[in-house]
Amino acid sequence: MKIHVPADHGATDILHEGEEIAVVCPHRYPGDTYNSLWFYCEARNDTDRDLPCAQIVIERLATGTDSYEPFWKHCLWSADGKAWERIPSEAQRFGTTTLMVESPLAAGRSLWIAETYPLPYAHYEKLRSDIAAPAALGITIRSERIGGSVLDRPIYAYHIGKSEGKASRSLLLVAGQHAVEESGKIFAETVLKGFHSGQFAGTAIETMLDVYNVTVVPLCNPDGCYDGRMNSNAQGVVMDSPEDDSPEMAALLSLVDAIKPAVSVNCHGWANEWGSPPYEDVYRWTDEDPLFAYLKANLPGCSTSGAPHLMGDHFRLECYAHPRYGTECIITEINWNCYIPPDGSPARRPSCADIRTRAVEYFEAIAKYCLQ
Ligand SMILES: [Zn+2]
Repeated sequence: MKIHVPADHGATDILHEGEEIAVVCPHRYPGDTYNSLWFYCEARNDTDRDLPCAQIVIERLATGTDSYEPFWKHCLWSADGKAWERIPSEAQRFGTTTLMVESPLAAGRSLWIAETYPLPYAHYEKLRSDIAAPAALGITIRSERIGGSVLDRPIYAYHIGKSEGKASRSLLLVAGQHAVEESGKIFAETVLKGFHSGQFAGTAIETMLDVYNVTVVPLCNPDGCYDGRMNSNAQGVVMDSPEDDSPEMAALLSLVDAIKPAVSVNCHGWANEWGSPPYEDVYRWTDEDPLFAYLKANLPGCSTSGAPHLMGDHFRLECYAHPRYGTECIITEINWNCYIPPDGSPARRPSCADIRTRAVEYFEAIAKYCLQ
């Protein structure tokens, strides 16, 4: 077997490539706060014989409180690197710090493995060209390059409004600071594409545009995305930490100065199972913060983690915007390992579509708050 690691989000080290077994491990970036738990690679049967039981082993996975775990107990596989599904339990075996995936693998075929739904850098180049096409009737989307990363990859903001809009307030939605928190990236992309396609026509989300212009920054840390880093940029600066003086952060802060957002939604993601399903939380300064209180009362499951997520003085973007512009700030953490459908059916491991549905649930609740 041969292992192929995508250059633009792979972050996987190859330890061994044998005839029927390959061994990899997450790539460790010293700047990242957490032990690495991200991996994303393709195992190819490059021989001319079918393998009845190919084995792909992921080693050096962290356990317990060392990495919030167990993120890696619910990984995904794919035959083509595009359509992903949870690995069936009969196809995987867990060690203390290892995951072994077993599958028949025909000659010339591939098996992709990833910790969760990967959104590599190339995905964002495609998103940019998709959004450049005309938006739905009555919606205007203007793209702006707000700055560049350490390695001079562009950071784009998309300003969304009604074509003859008179909205005077701003809502800012950012994602991808922590580059493998894919459910947060899915959140921002779902909002951007939803406006672009007209999916929100007739809903509170569209009505919100009468009062608010919406600015979406779908990828705030493009180098981190390219490298597959946990939460740092190319220089190892942890994004949105109090010490974050990165060019990526400078781009966001100048955007904040320009649009003076009344509301800021910073889309992160996680996969913990602490508390009760769906194990999510929303960062706030206090439980009385109006937006947090509204979400807690109106968005089932949004505050179900085992411990409250309080902002304190831990986050550079939020601690900049709030005192200057009175910005109401939240940081969301959609869970990519747990979803409770609104129809009351039991909690399940979300598909990518479920995560998009959850993102709309969040954004619709935020819109209704804004329209109060
Ligand atoms: Zn995060």
